[in-house]
Amino acid sequence: MKELRREKSEKLFEDAKTMFPGGVHSPVRAFKSVDGAPIFIDSGDGCIITDVDGNEYIDFCYSWGPLILGHNNASVKNAVQKALIKGTSFGTPTALGNEIGHLLLDNHKYLEMIRFVSSGTEAVMSAIRLARGYTGKNKIIKFNGCYHGHVDSMLVKAGSGLVTSGVSTSAGIPDSYVKETLVLELNDLQALIELLKSNNDIAAIIIEPVPANNGLLIQDRNYLSWLRKLCDEYGVLLIFDEVISGFRLGFEGASGYYSIKPDIITFGKIIGGGLPVGAFGGSKEIMSHIAPLGEVYQAGTLSANPLAISAGIAMLKEILKPGFYEDLEAKTQYLVGLIKSHAESKGYDFSIQSIASIFWFNFSTKRAITANDINADNMVIFKKMHKFLLDNGVYIGPSGYEVGFISAAHDKSTLEKAATLINQSLDEAFMN
Ligand SMILES: *Cc1c(COP(=O)(O)O)cnc(C)c1O
Repeated sequence: MKELRREKSEKLFEDAKTMFPGGVHSPVRAFKSVDGAPIFIDSGDGCIITDVDGNEYIDFCYSWGPLILGHNNASVKNAVQKALIKGTSFGTPTALGNEIGHLLLDNHKYLEMIRFVSSGTEAVMSAIRLARGYTGKNKIIKFNGCYHGHVDSMLVKAGSGLVTSGVSTSAGIPDSYVKETLVLELNDLQALIELLKSNNDIAAIIIEPVPANNGLLIQDRNYLSWLRKLCDEYGVLLIFDEVISGFRLGFEGASGYYSIKPDIITFGKIIGGGLPVGAFGGSKEIMSHIAPLGEVYQAGTLSANPLAISAGIAMLKEILKPGFYEDLEAKTQYLVGLIKSHAESKGYDFSIQSIASIFWFNFSTKRAITANDINADNMVIFKKMHKFLLDNGVYIGPSGYEVGFISAAHDKSTLEKAATLINQSLDEAFMN
């Protein structure tokens, strides 16, 4: 196994640590769950990223999902350059805003009105406020193993014992906030029904319809449609957090994929084509409650700024092209198939779970459907894989709980090369 030289990355990280908490601006970037210092990336093109020491990697992280077209996509780059010439932000409405609005509403059957923000977290925070304002109720049900950004009330996990007593996963969150969030396990309808029956102050259920932040916990369609039915029965809003699944499982995301109409959908990541954009939308009836039309306040200085929106428009136009998702899915199946057949032939306790262009290494042959199905002890195997892959030019998210992404820029021969290296990394991890 060769060791790549990463002197510049290491030096930059030492320097960064003197200025930024942990040397980073988002915790997972610090490589805490894997060996070595984080790699400082200098540039990206197509499916390849290059670090400051000149090492190249085949990317499967893609800035955690937004770059479904790959790095430095020509259409996105040209659109941003064109917008840049006219100025970056005006704090006024722009024609570009209308353009992206039409693109979204004309092509997504569950969206009648949308509001732009600048991150997924902001979208979730606003969606929750809207659900509370609309229903006049306070509590939110969320599920263990779903991530909804760093909103105070969403950094809550199930406590031991009673389902209704969640505990915060971060310091700095008042108990009084935590009490407003009720946490359940995924795929447990009985617990949900009991909770809905016993509590009449529930404003919304929020779920990642394809939970992809704690492994890839693909739910059954039947379970998701029961959520819809129960929400209707109990007068609760259904929020689909589609920050990852939106525009990933198809233009209409998981909502379209499962044909389930949520009351509010949140977006982030892909919608901005790599620039900071988030959004939330739904029916006119519900969205009309947002200020200045309605009484639920929400605002943003840089919301829908022309630079970010022009990237979003270019990205949406590309993914609307016929065959886009079919190609992407075929690429994913190709990579997954190559890894799967190797792992099976070796009899490893390993499987690769995938949906659309998302995949995840599961260190078990049993399907993981709830957070409890993931054995944390197996992350030592991931650590070995990760090190091997990094040293051999494959970049995957630096945690075994993170999913990988396929982009339109992955070509067949690169995927073949990556699969060979991933298979070698499995051998390395399982044999040593
Ligand atoms: C990434 C993510 C968020 C948070 O988005 P940010 O842009 O990082 O604030 C929220 N929900 C889900 C499902 C996500 O994957």
